[in-house]
Amino acid sequence: MKSLIKYSWITLIFIFLSVISQIGGIVYLLSLWISKTINLKFKFKKVLVFLALYSLTTFLVIPFLAPFGGREKIITTPNIKPASFLTNVLNRNYVIKDVNLFLADAAEELEKQNPEIAIRYLDACFPFFNDFPLFPHLSHNDGKKIDFSLVYQDNTGKIINKSKSISGYGVFEAPKSNESNQPDNCKEKGYFQYNFAKYLTLGKINKNLEFSADGNRVLIRSFLKQEQLNKIFIEPHLKQRMNLTDNKIRFHGCKAVRHDDHIHVQIQ
Ligand SMILES: [Zn+2]
Repeated sequence: MKSLIKYSWITLIFIFLSVISQIGGIVYLLSLWISKTINLKFKFKKVLVFLALYSLTTFLVIPFLAPFGGREKIITTPNIKPASFLTNVLNRNYVIKDVNLFLADAAEELEKQNPEIAIRYLDACFPFFNDFPLFPHLSHNDGKKIDFSLVYQDNTGKIINKSKSISGYGVFEAPKSNESNQPDNCKEKGYFQYNFAKYLTLGKINKNLEFSADGNRVLIRSFLKQEQLNKIFIEPHLKQRMNLTDNKIRFHGCKAVRHDDHIHVQIQ
């Protein structure tokens, strides 16, 4: 009985770590084995061995191995950076080469239009295997999908390259009374998962920041200028608020989750 409970726990932890970081489950099993082979006894031994092995794997081994399967780390620069530290820590920063080219070209365009705005990315894809789902985004499984933080400003209109939640998700820019209201439409149709991201903030921060219609328009236009772009998903009321009409900006449907907390981009 005791060992049944033990193995159930190990299985649950394995599944959880695999779901959030892809390689975490395997690293966990490996760390249990390594812990056993270390004869020294010390406090939190298993946790410390796991953390050391996970860091080593995530920051040194995976970036080296991923290109063999056609993925690479998102190349960061002062103008292209993660919106949340979790993205890189959980191996959610892998894409095909074309996405890095797309980002470099978009950053160059953005620099010309408004150098104050940084491209701040959120979840992209995992390092290995097509069709391995990246929870909770079902489509981020081929190296071609990447989410971006919205652009915010302070009350003087100055661009502030920060997020409104720890995870970068879940703080919605709700429709104003004169705008179309897709979240309500989806809710009325019974799609209760539509607001699900509100549970994924991990804590709200920078509450004084406001949605920058100009900043987001400039950012999205720098994406629209790139040939590799396939489509962009954002809530219709934000498209309306930014006066954007390009038909590459689409509504993602009620079966997805709402997109007024981030911008979803797909490359050809
Ligand atoms: Zn997405």
